[in-house]
Amino acid sequence: MTEGNDRIQNFIDGRYVEPLAGAYLDNIEPATGKPYSQVPDSRPEDVELAVTAAEKAFEQWSRTPSAERSTILLRLADAIERDLEKFALAESIDTGKPVSLARNLDIPRAVSNFRFFATAILHTENEAHVTDGVAFNYTLRQPRGITGLISPWNLPLYLLSWKIAPAIACGNTAVAKPSELTPMTAHLLGEACNQAGLPPGVLNIVHGTGPHVGQAITAHPKITTISFTGGTVTGRKVAETCAPMFKKMSLELGGKNPNIVFADADLDAAITGSVRSSFANQGQVCLCGSRIFVQRAAYQHFVDGLVDKTSKLRIGDPLEPTTEQGAIVSKTQLEKVKFYVDLAQQEGGRVALGGRAPEQINDRCRDGYFFQPTIITGLAVGCRTNREEIFGPVVSITPFDDEEEVIRYANDCDYGLASSVWTQNLSRAHRVAEQIQTGTVWVNCWLLRDLRVPFGGMKQSGVGREGGNEALHFFTEPKNVCIAK
Ligand code: NAD
Repeated sequence: MTEGNDRIQNFIDGRYVEPLAGAYLDNIEPATGKPYSQVPDSRPEDVELAVTAAEKAFEQWSRTPSAERSTILLRLADAIERDLEKFALAESIDTGKPVSLARNLDIPRAVSNFRFFATAILHTENEAHVTDGVAFNYTLRQPRGITGLISPWNLPLYLLSWKIAPAIACGNTAVAKPSELTPMTAHLLGEACNQAGLPPGVLNIVHGTGPHVGQAITAHPKITTISFTGGTVTGRKVAETCAPMFKKMSLELGGKNPNIVFADADLDAAITGSVRSSFANQGQVCLCGSRIFVQRAAYQHFVDGLVDKTSKLRIGDPLEPTTEQGAIVSKTQLEKVKFYVDLAQQEGGRVALGGRAPEQINDRCRDGYFFQPTIITGLAVGCRTNREEIFGPVVSITPFDDEEEVIRYANDCDYGLASSVWTQNLSRAHRVAEQIQTGTVWVNCWLLRDLRVPFGGMKQSGVGREGGNEALHFFTEPKNVCIAK
């Protein structure tokens, strides 16, 4: 941890401030199971302060030319990039993820988010419609006001910046709440905003729990736009609060993603890709493919290959540069993972790899929340382990015979976030992609992201889409001006 950061503060109106009630929660390092800092246990009064600052800042910021907003956001990206090591270390300590993952993926992608939206706002177009010589219409897209941005713990800076960047690039101001489990990178972001010259009040960060801070943000009458990423159960609560107030909402929720391997796939690539899509970030990526379906002719080869490659992943202290699998984010999450591994066995599954905590990692990590990457076979497609989101390093593998059957398996699920299809047959790839009910279908890849494309889930994985133009539209209000001839 960087010096002086042992007590995180809220970032309101460009300044670090204590929570008004002076209450804090311990911030636990997952790799050690011990508190390493404290995070504000803020209350609705703190959200009120943030809203006041955001409201004041909106007047000026919403009228700031886009070129100027763009320059400031680019400077913000530079400031994070300059401190990449500090951010990566903070993220690794906070989440338990390998520092190499934070350094190579999460933090650079957060930088990209700011750069992408900083430049996107320079290239927008306004629609115009001529009505048969009678009138001329044009559409203004105006900032919506104060936005509420709530994010989870798994990719803390990346997911928060995915919301902050488009929201403020479009001229809105923001009250953001990171997960109380992983607040450190958001804390550092305040400093970067000031270095970049972001006017005070444009971005305010209030730390604390969902019931206190998250709920106060979603219920606040002056916050008209809510972008939420988290679990489906929480998303439902957010929707229940927002719907009667007619707030504009984007909900990015859970997933139970199918990963489909046809026998005609490049199996080496499918196995390597599936190790990543199963266990990246200890399986704690909403896009992880936890339901693997393999065509019968390739089934045994695939299972053996996946078990072999996964068994070579280096589990270790997240701060060691060679570690590939770090700690689970919290004790509660670790208990949830253990619960599902037990349940899988009661449901008739066989643990082909893992299924328990690893041998002691080192003395520093002896009380950390570690679990081995776990592969389960022999489960029925419709059992609980195959339907409910575990959000940990646990996958199940099921054989299938043909396309029709596997599409049925893939879609027989309440979630619809993402999927992967491995095949060398181009026609099949198109056919299957068209029929799978997920917001993203990756063919012969996983987590390959182009920030311009719509991102989000179907069914209980969410409503609204983020990314590219979708985000620019979400964070602006379209207004049609109709001029009679
Ligand atoms: P969570 O739903 O418990 O919490 C998410 C955020 O919501 C946190 O900041 C939390 O404090 C806040 N919150 C909790 N209760 C609230 C309430 N009543 N009102 C407002 N805010 C509240 O989720 P989590 O455990 O932090 O994250 C894991 C979940 O996030 C998984 O289900 C995962 O699939 C999902 N996720 C989805 C995506 C996506 O893009 N679809 C990305 C990452 C994670």
